[in-house]
Amino acid sequence: MASTPSAHPDVMEKLVSLCKRRGFIFQSSEIYGGTGSVWDYGPLGVELKRNLKDRWWNAMVRSRDDIEGLDAAILMHPRTWEASGHVAGFTDPLVDCRNCKKRFRADDPKIKGTPGQPDAQCPACGMKGTLSEPRMFNLMFKTFMGPVEESASVVYLRPETAQGIYVNFLNVQQSTRQKVPFGIAQIGKAFRNEITPGNFIFRTREFEQMEMQFFVDPEKDHMEWFEYWKAQRMAWHLSLGLDEGRLLFHQHTPEELAHYARAAFDIQFDFGGTLGFQEIEGVHHRGDFDLNRHQEYSGKKLEYFDQPNNRRFVPFVVETSVGADRTALALLVNGYREETVEGETEGRVVLGLPAQLAPVKAGVFPLVKKDGMPEFAEKLAKELRSAFPVFYDESGAIGRRYRRQDEIGTPFCVTVDGTSNEDNTVTIRDRDTLQQVRVDAGKVKGWILERLGT
Ligand code: ATP
Repeated sequence: MASTPSAHPDVMEKLVSLCKRRGFIFQSSEIYGGTGSVWDYGPLGVELKRNLKDRWWNAMVRSRDDIEGLDAAILMHPRTWEASGHVAGFTDPLVDCRNCKKRFRADDPKIKGTPGQPDAQCPACGMKGTLSEPRMFNLMFKTFMGPVEESASVVYLRPETAQGIYVNFLNVQQSTRQKVPFGIAQIGKAFRNEITPGNFIFRTREFEQMEMQFFVDPEKDHMEWFEYWKAQRMAWHLSLGLDEGRLLFHQHTPEELAHYARAAFDIQFDFGGTLGFQEIEGVHHRGDFDLNRHQEYSGKKLEYFDQPNNRRFVPFVVETSVGADRTALALLVNGYREETVEGETEGRVVLGLPAQLAPVKAGVFPLVKKDGMPEFAEKLAKELRSAFPVFYDESGAIGRRYRRQDEIGTPFCVTVDGTSNEDNTVTIRDRDTLQQVRVDAGKVKGWILERLGT
């Protein structure tokens, strides 16, 4: 895939190893040799992704009165996917090697020659003339509903969450009495039988999307709303602490633009190395394509009634669609750094995650395992745990314990030392500046909460 070259190093391999070692992300079904491009989130990864999803939900649903939430089912009526165009058009061209049985995308740059012709060479086994003509391959996972495996019972795992929003457009509008313009948002799993998955959690076969469809009046300010959402969504990514220099808008070229779309921009993030700038979110002006198609295929009207003007119309849709896993990867890539520490021979690895998104907010340590320090620290850890996730650690050298927290992005480390039992104070160390402040033990919770913005 073409991408703008990156000035940032490729940290993917290091991240895959860190994520496994520290319990962020594991390969799915690893003991059986793994499932291709499917990943499991471990204890720290699930916290990171949940914090990210909560942040999106708060920004898009809870803090606004013009967007409603939804949690539609993964399995939908099969006609949905005929209406959406996925049955006919959600395809990639594939070629098979008759010799080694491997499959490739027809446009794989590693293929030399023309697939289907004698000159074409298989990139895996090197044989010539064994590659088939390209065939279209649908990316939707197909399964059967009920006990009979026949064509009448075929259902699909949804390849995007958006369709669940369109088919519920009137249910939500009428039950909430929202007036256009308004939006519907949901977070959920989507499945795509990707042919060239990879790059860790960048492109997987099972992933989570956070999508919002905003319904606007086709005769009014729909382009203004498109611009508004473009700006809002970029601002949201910046609010996650992603570097401004690593984010850009990519406008869809006429070839990329879907035939029904009036305008489309991707927000791209620079993942470093050869991957470089890649889409993390799409902001699309979809016109009235989706609602019209569902009207046509279901035979049910999906019109909005504008009471004051006594007008019925099918709204235009501005969509914002962002991958939770891809954004989590952007956060990990953006935050990963290796540093030398003044006065120390051993360097450190830091995950510079924003405090609000970090899986653990504070490490709590007794300096040594004696003189009442563990008891003091355990009591403090318990108090802090009532407000946010805390990791208590009393084993090994204090420097090592700090490093372990730096590597998982814990923004604060609280240490109980020899004076704590005398004057009830502890030190709080900042992950990024390495500065330590002495704070009254009773004030630690408030001090940290203030910095978490809660
Ligand atoms: P791409 O061109 O990278 O395949 P797309 O244009 O097909 O992406 P959309 O259909 O617009 O993607 O989906 C919206 C968002 O969902 C993407 O920006 C991305 O963050 C996420 N996404 C899509 N496909 C995958 C996948 N296979 N794995 C992880 N995230 C994905």
